[in-house]
Amino acid sequence: MRYLQKLYLEGGVMKEESKVMIFLAAWVILGTSLFFWHIFNRNVSRKRRLHPWIVSAVCVLFTIFVIWISGFKTEVMVFFIPAVLLVCLLNIKLTKFCDSCGRTLFNNGLYWKMEFCPKCGTKLR
Ligand SMILES: [Zn+2]
Repeated sequence: MRYLQKLYLEGGVMKEESKVMIFLAAWVILGTSLFFWHIFNRNVSRKRRLHPWIVSAVCVLFTIFVIWISGFKTEVMVFFIPAVLLVCLLNIKLTKFCDSCGRTLFNNGLYWKMEFCPKCGTKLR
């Protein structure tokens, strides 16, 4: 209860540091969960089906957090939302899944296409 009281200033307005701490905690939990999901889940069809939805949800959540923390500043939204949208689309487009070993493969190069799985050598589709 004392911790919750520390989160707020007088008048019920949340401190900016508290917003950042909530954001960081949510991000660590979400990032760790997704990391382990990608590492231990070898169901490729499920990954292919859910990956665009998960990435979109994470991007929307990230956008909401940043807008909330920044205090709805127009200049933040004008530059930030297109940047998040671009990163979201690139993540969906560049992430591949190996049919043979089930790994999630993140292609870090924009100018070359990953054709083979670097872990098992199977041709990717
Ligand atoms: Zn593979």
